[in-house]
Amino acid sequence: MDLPVSEIHGVGPKLLEQLAAMGITTVRELLEHFPFRYEDHTVRPIMEAEHEERITVRGTVHSEPSLRFYGRNKSRLTVRMLVDGLLIQAVFFNQGYLKKQMQLGESIVVSGKFDRHRLMLSGGTLKAAKASPEEGLEPVYSVKGDLKLNQLKTLIRQAFQQFGERIEEILPAQLLTAYRLIGRKETLKFLHFPASPQELRQARRRMIYEELLLFQLKMQMLRKIEREAEPGQKKNICQERLEELLSGLPFQLTQAQQRVLKEIVADLQGDYRMNRLLQGDVGSGKTVIAGCALFANANAGYQGALMVPTEILAEQHYESLRELLEPYQLKVRLLSGSAKAKERRELAEELQAGSINVLVGTHALIQEGVHFHKLGLVITDEQHRFGVEQRRALRKKGIRPDVLFMTATPIPRTLSISAFGDMDVSIIDEMPAGRKPIKTHWAKPAMFSRVIEFVKKEVEKGYQAYVICPLIEESEKLDVQNAIDVHQQLQQLLSGIQIGLMHGRLSAAEKDAVMEAFAANRVQILVSTTVVEVGVNVPNATVMVIYDAERFGLAQLHQLRGRVGRGQAQSHCILLADPKSDVGKERMHIMTETNDGFELSERDLELRGPGDFFGHKQSGLPVFKVADIVEDFRVLEVARQDAVKLVHSTAFWQGEDYEQLRRCIAMEEIFQHGKLD
Ligand code: ADP
Ligand code: MG
Repeated sequence: MDLPVSEIHGVGPKLLEQLAAMGITTVRELLEHFPFRYEDHTVRPIMEAEHEERITVRGTVHSEPSLRFYGRNKSRLTVRMLVDGLLIQAVFFNQGYLKKQMQLGESIVVSGKFDRHRLMLSGGTLKAAKASPEEGLEPVYSVKGDLKLNQLKTLIRQAFQQFGERIEEILPAQLLTAYRLIGRKETLKFLHFPASPQELRQARRRMIYEELLLFQLKMQMLRKIEREAEPGQKKNICQERLEELLSGLPFQLTQAQQRVLKEIVADLQGDYRMNRLLQGDVGSGKTVIAGCALFANANAGYQGALMVPTEILAEQHYESLRELLEPYQLKVRLLSGSAKAKERRELAEELQAGSINVLVGTHALIQEGVHFHKLGLVITDEQHRFGVEQRRALRKKGIRPDVLFMTATPIPRTLSISAFGDMDVSIIDEMPAGRKPIKTHWAKPAMFSRVIEFVKKEVEKGYQAYVICPLIEESEKLDVQNAIDVHQQLQQLLSGIQIGLMHGRLSAAEKDAVMEAFAANRVQILVSTTVVEVGVNVPNATVMVIYDAERFGLAQLHQLRGRVGRGQAQSHCILLADPKSDVGKERMHIMTETNDGFELSERDLELRGPGDFFGHKQSGLPVFKVADIVEDFRVLEVARQDAVKLVHSTAFWQGEDYEQLRRCIAMEEIFQHGKLD
């Protein structure tokens, strides 16, 4: 199976090159290049078709086909057909040669997109004249360059003929039986050449489980290897002092916060290194938990670091950690991007000497030139994932601290636990008491002047507002221009009110100045691009206006909305949007109906199924060939449980029945050369 594709008859140098461009060099890779969709050519009653759905029907030719030419060499062939007692028109483009195959009164099979209102089947292809067609599902593959779909199909067919018998089972019989899964040979065959929807369903079912099990096994093994390689620091946590800190807080921790803190403290004390994901909706109070963990870590004699994605956020966390920790004689410092060389040097010295207990900053924190005396805990806030690079940077310095990742990206509960399989997951699923839910309104752009009137009233009451600017995908430059325009426009409309402007092109010092002015209410309205998206905390702000809300993902809208509702007063989020699609409208409705990030993510998941919710790359969620981590999350969880059992069983490590599975995992790049990432 790992033979080069050149072993397949008919593969010449050109084809070899084309395949290589698609990442296919071995027979195995070719056989595991699965179709990404299937066209259903099963003949169906026409009345079953939805409007605009593709369907294959059988009917009789009811009129002489008529062929018209237009443009340079374009043609349009139309014919009336009687299908299931219904007279419809079938339209074929640039296939004039079909005319000869359509005889009045004869039966033909046609597929196309059905327009229910005009009773028209358009973009048609003739599947068969007279004879009954080859029924079933036609696979569609992704191809690159000038490789033709048909060439690829022929090649796969050929590969099956030569090597099909050599496809090996990799799942142990015990699992195959338990879940009634079909064998691997059949699975591959059915995925490429399904004779019926049933075959395809069975094959997909099996392949989804296989992919997810392999993924979870990889995760669990990583976890086991990492744990065993690296004994934890077994910190000596003083519970009394932690209690003291907690009793000094202006509020009591919620039940959820208490539970999560306990889990973290147990990790700090434990035999293993902590590798934990802390999920909590916007405003659920993650920062104070980070503060407590850093406090406990410092009292145990270790330094701690808090890493955030932006300078604005770094500044803010620095302030709140100082407030929390300095009364206990702990030294908190900020590593700012705008610090002078001299300040940096001093900071580096203090850090290395160990007199700094907690360092806050962006990822510059763990880069070259920053050396800790005794780093025990790294916390990252609102970074989607603590990057591989960053972990490597730490490891190069010979440090493997406890690591806590905090995120407000609302990933559905079940999904997060199983998708981040190598981590432990803690969830804050409760909001601090006494919060007034944010009221979310959806306004059409035509209502703009009323929205501005509303903002003005809130400002007159002494509150503040954010205005998030239209988003132009992929172009930061245009986003900035939009912000500048909106800023100007609002200044004209709202003279007498101080309006600040914030965007990614400002220098760190300029950003600081704007943010500071806003936090101190010297500026009442902050016009901004999405740079204020995460973490920013100005409790006096009660209005969030978002232009072009339909262009933002739900997760992002929820994050933006989370900038308000942080104080005592009633807050509002206004979505200026004119979505064209039903899904877009539905999303605006969802936003107005719920404030709960987890519910939001789950409803979005129902609405759209896989894909978009998490954004493209940012989620850190893995991608599979057949399985979809969102759609198949139930299987993902089953696979996780199976994987946990397996890595703790001797059968898996020694049993003959598991040999193929072990070999498969060992082939994963991640486990080669003893590397872990
Ligand atoms: P996030 O989880 O979004 O990072 P923050 O940590 O910024 O949320 O907390 C939001 C606000 O809630 C802060 O002003 C914080 O002081 C406050 N807060 C946190 N925990 C509690 C609590 N248990 N009771 C009341 N207020 C709390
Ligand atoms: Mg936060």
